[in-house]
Amino acid sequence: MKALVKYGIADGDVEIRDIPDPSPQAGRVLIEADTVGVCGSDVHMWRNRQSWPVSLPLVLGHEMAGRVVDTGGLPEFADGDRVVTETAQSVCGHCGYCLTGRYNHCPERRGYGALVDGAFSRYMSARPQIVHHIPDGVGADHAALTEPACVAYNALVERVRITSGDIVVIQGAGAIGVMAAQMARIAGAGAIVVIGTARDTARLQVAQAVGATHVVSLDTDDPEDTVRGLGDGLGAHVVVDATGASAALAQSLDLVRPLGVIAKVGWGPQPLGFSLDPLVAKAVTLAGSFSHTWQTWERVLDLIATSALLLDPVIGGRYPLTAWAEAFGAMEDGRNVKSVITGFAPASVT
Ligand SMILES: [Zn+2]
Ligand SMILES: [Zn+2]
Repeated sequence: MKALVKYGIADGDVEIRDIPDPSPQAGRVLIEADTVGVCGSDVHMWRNRQSWPVSLPLVLGHEMAGRVVDTGGLPEFADGDRVVTETAQSVCGHCGYCLTGRYNHCPERRGYGALVDGAFSRYMSARPQIVHHIPDGVGADHAALTEPACVAYNALVERVRITSGDIVVIQGAGAIGVMAAQMARIAGAGAIVVIGTARDTARLQVAQAVGATHVVSLDTDDPEDTVRGLGDGLGAHVVVDATGASAALAQSLDLVRPLGVIAKVGWGPQPLGFSLDPLVAKAVTLAGSFSHTWQTWERVLDLIATSALLLDPVIGGRYPLTAWAEAFGAMEDGRNVKSVITGFAPASVT
């Protein structure tokens, strides 16, 4: 089958290659891809700017919606079932995190499209513990966005509790930032400010369409002015760093109020280069947030099924696998919040 493979560590070392089809296996679900979302992390790996370990050569992709083509003998699945898969391809199953349902922190967790082959191919095999049925009425393109929505849900609902009326600031207008704006809205935030740059003009419009009450472009506006103009003027109750840039963490310390919370979702390899004294002086809580678990997925699928999450504005374009570079490029240059790849069958990949 054709697959999108990162084969080296230079900028651009990604190409479509032929790899063997995975074989059906007892106890594992074999899934044929329908739609696979492009993650910002895929774009980083294309450019070799990732700050997490990867195992090469590697099939990229981890945001997959598809259909069961072999149940592996598991009674809870039938051929043709529409499903989505979580990203933890394997975990140890016996550490304290696995045994208490927090397997996203298993020390032996291996994620699709990072440490094991991922989803940009016709078929992918998964253990049943991470396969969820797509609710009736939810299309594959929306279902493929479950994963980034789960990242935002974990950060804004599971790691940080938003109180009704909170002022929430989100740094970054990519897919995670836009999903975070929606989660803030659903969780009952008051003002929701999304911060981007001039490159993000189109994405800030999407953020506004799905939940942001204010958008700020750093090239023309000062976010401090916007945030101090809200509520009691003391700053944000919650800041979400969905960029990973060190400058964003410095800015979040300016924007957060005393006793506020910063949720850090974005990865960034740079050293900080500034003092964390404001964290001490304001007694701020800095909360990292990583991945998601079974219950995150079920809740988010409900939010998609009930249309609480608005996903049409988030999808900037649908591309065949052969046009992957265009799909990745449209996210890199800020045209699309999210590109999705559809069409993995041989007829569309020759
Ligand atoms: Zn992702
Ligand atoms: Zn474990």
